[in-house]
Amino acid sequence: MIGKTLVVGGGVGGMTAAISLKRIGVEVDLIDADPQWRVYGAGISVTGISLRAFDALGILDQVRARGHVGAGMRGKTASGQTIMEPPVPPDPQPIQQGGGIMRPVLHEILSSTVRAEKIDVRLGLKVDRLAQDQTGVQVTFDDGSSGRYDLVIGADGIYSQIRSMIFPDAPKPKFTGQGCWRVVAKRPTEVDRTEMYFGGPVKLGINPVSQDEMYMFILEHVPDNPFFPEGEMVEHVRALMAPFGGAVPRVRESIVDPAQINYRPLEWLLLPKPWYNGRVVLIGDAAHATTPHMASGAGIAAEDGLVLAEELQRHESVTDALHAFMERRFERARLVVENSVMIGDMEMAGDMSDKAPKMLGATMGQLQAPY
Ligand SMILES: Cc1cc2nc3c(=O)[nH]c(=O)nc-3n(C[C@H](O)[C@H](O)[C@H](O)COP(=O)(O)OP(=O)(O)OC[C@H]3O[C@@H](n4cnc5c(N)ncnc54)[C@H](O)[C@@H]3O)c2cc1C
Repeated sequence: MIGKTLVVGGGVGGMTAAISLKRIGVEVDLIDADPQWRVYGAGISVTGISLRAFDALGILDQVRARGHVGAGMRGKTASGQTIMEPPVPPDPQPIQQGGGIMRPVLHEILSSTVRAEKIDVRLGLKVDRLAQDQTGVQVTFDDGSSGRYDLVIGADGIYSQIRSMIFPDAPKPKFTGQGCWRVVAKRPTEVDRTEMYFGGPVKLGINPVSQDEMYMFILEHVPDNPFFPEGEMVEHVRALMAPFGGAVPRVRESIVDPAQINYRPLEWLLLPKPWYNGRVVLIGDAAHATTPHMASGAGIAAEDGLVLAEELQRHESVTDALHAFMERRFERARLVVENSVMIGDMEMAGDMSDKAPKMLGATMGQLQAPY
């Protein structure tokens, strides 16, 4: 079995890998570049694949208790009329459910699990140099310290430094043409499940993230990728929400402070196979960064961590394990990334047909297959 492993990046993917490896007896060091190990204060939607992965990791009860997990969604017209409320399956499994949670809360659940597993965590640290030979990887950190590892896992996100070290010619993240606004607000009581508003000038959805909070997301077509100064954000978001009815006007009234708002231009990246070079492997956004159209980026990052640990336990040789990991992961990641980007393209082209909802439904159905 594999010996000492370094995980670079303590996001959902890196922490899942670290916890899963530690539990099968691997000695794990985890580093994160952020000295405070923070995440920004937006909500995150959790689909069935995220919930199934959290279940496998043993944190689903905490996610249920501190976030919002349920089955079913509600479709509305832009003016707020309910047009769709599919029946909730009896006794739904995690894979049939969905919900939302604040990112800092999910981070706290995962990072306290990392600490409870006594994984050696060092913060404010990056890799300076990687030197591989047949038997291991010699890592020099940017504080001058060093270590030798059997495996290095690059889980350092969309702008991965480890990716550029092992694949200097790898494709760079590409801007899609859309920007994502996320707003945290008090939850109107009637918003008891995900609500999607169709037919408006922008795509808008609301997702509960706890007993009394919700987050709203808006996807805006911004082909020139403009910079939005903080001082203009409240006015801008309120203008985007103005044409909508239902619960939106009440949420709109409560937006007064740019601190409630998070804006990110959408970018994507799908690294061709393989995602490893020797004993260094990439997982999560470092290998496959997606847009939020399927709310499955965190789910596939967590699955990467679980599958990597399974394959390392199953194979004596690191190369065989990484090959088997790739065989299980590439198609699932490709499905999420390419179909998410395609749905965004349809939205930007103003395609109001049922093509995008059908693609979303079919992809979510395919993802229910075991990972
Ligand atoms: C606008 C937007 C909305 C989204 N909404 C959803 C959603 O609703 N649901 C969903 O499932 N997914 C969503 N996603 C995708 C999801 O956020 C990501 O897929 C997921 O967070 C990837 O996790 P990760 O662990 O691979 O990377 P990250 O979460 O990016 O974590 C990377 C970690 O590495 C650290 N790091 C970075 N560089 C270095 C370095 N050089 N050295 C050491 N550490 C480093 C960072 O500090 C960070 O802790 C969304 C993405 C965007 C852009």
